[in-house]
Amino acid sequence: TLDLARLQQWMTRFAAVAEQNKAYLTALDSAIGDADHGTNMARGSAAVLAKLEASPPSTMGELGKTAGMTLVSAVGGSAGPLYGTFFLRLGASIGDAAELDAATLAAALRAGVEGIVARGKAEAGDKTMVDAWLPALAAMDEAVASGASLVDALAAARDAAAAGRDATEPLVARKGRASYLGERSAGHIDPGAASTALLLDALAEVAA
Ligand code: ADP
Ligand code: MG
Ligand code: MG
Repeated sequence: TLDLARLQQWMTRFAAVAEQNKAYLTALDSAIGDADHGTNMARGSAAVLAKLEASPPSTMGELGKTAGMTLVSAVGGSAGPLYGTFFLRLGASIGDAAELDAATLAAALRAGVEGIVARGKAEAGDKTMVDAWLPALAAMDEAVASGASLVDALAAARDAAAAGRDATEPLVARKGRASYLGERSAGHIDPGAASTALLLDALAEVAA
């Protein structure tokens, strides 16, 4: 199961991974956006860590709220508010539960992604982070239905997110800055799909 300490580790791990992948995410965004996704994610995740340290949450629900509010306010552009909404909804779904099993985590992740979709209105195939999230949720649900452990369910979600990220390459963007490029957005991986794959990679790692 996941508990508050593990969720804290998730945030710590993600901040490290975002920092390590800053140049990679920014390179992806320089091809079809404005070359700031790496900076946005590194700065946002570092701000979340600082805030969690300054005001330690006492529940996982509070952690989600703190992370979400920090991302919404600390990161401009699209990704901050979208990931911020994800964490706000995740926290609301978790509430004051002390532990998450595979099924309750799957439900919380789904609630978070519903927040991203409510805010950004992207659909499958629009070449956004949603194209990494939706296959991850499907893989997670399938794993839960087949009785997989939390660790195995998260590994399946991580792999599906990575495949979803790779599948954004040929797509033409229909949402976000990349959509301004029209057909020229094809041939590049979506930066937000790449950061979502990193976020799920970090979660699978701390759960294992
Ligand atoms: P900005 O585009 O404002 O500079 P970022 O570069 O940080 O913000 O984030 C860009 C990423 O945000 C895109 O690669 C895409 O995955 C995601 N994104 C943009 N618009 C949307 C949307 N409407 N719905 C879902 N994701 C979106
Ligand atoms: Mg950008
Ligand atoms: Mg920007």
